[in-house]
Amino acid sequence: MTYSAAALVLFSGGQDSTTCLAWALERYGRVETVGFDYGQRHRVELDARLTVLDGLRRAFPAWAERLGADHLLDLRGFGAVGESALTSERTLEMDARGLPTSFVPGRNLVFLSYAAALADRRGLDRLVGGMCETDFSGYPDCRRETLDAMERALNLGMDRDFRVETPLMKLTKAETWGLADQLGGRALVRLILEESHTCYLGERGALHAWGRGCGACPACELRARGWDEWRAAA
Ligand code: ZN
Repeated sequence: MTYSAAALVLFSGGQDSTTCLAWALERYGRVETVGFDYGQRHRVELDARLTVLDGLRRAFPAWAERLGADHLLDLRGFGAVGESALTSERTLEMDARGLPTSFVPGRNLVFLSYAAALADRRGLDRLVGGMCETDFSGYPDCRRETLDAMERALNLGMDRDFRVETPLMKLTKAETWGLADQLGGRALVRLILEESHTCYLGERGALHAWGRGCGACPACELRARGWDEWRAAA
């Protein structure tokens, strides 16, 4: 354990970033969180962040001691530039690159730039994000190669020694449930299941076996499939 290090977790209130937050809380002496308001169509995402943070503090007193400030940064200007199915009424479809219209161009590059500026001011040296190459929808800014280049650019441009850490990079969604179970047992799995938000349509509604959501959008399908795989293997 390197409790001397301090981390900033890119925290959206979803399954992946909640697992990353638990991962960081197991490792680092001080952990802060950052979220981005880029004009999401659904405020439920931003509300889920606060519910999950509150739930973590209550269920895990040892983590609560190390869990510091939460920051919400206003990136609505960027959201307007990268207008897509997530932030407008356009339907989900594929573009000429084979990328879904839910792809906000360069989103993680912008998030990491803002996160690094904040981390510099807050004295945090690890940037932790839930980017993943395995189950993802083809987003080029989730690839480790992109993040290695970004880490280098941030360190050159800010004269720092940041590390961009991506604990889920090689994991399937089923393995991400397994990691949550390892880190925080059934209490963490339950919290993620009930309170983290994934659905593209902003649907909360009924609690399915795998959590809340419409059950039909790509994000819900991915989450439900991962849950079923994990349960089948357990
Ligand atoms: Zn959905």
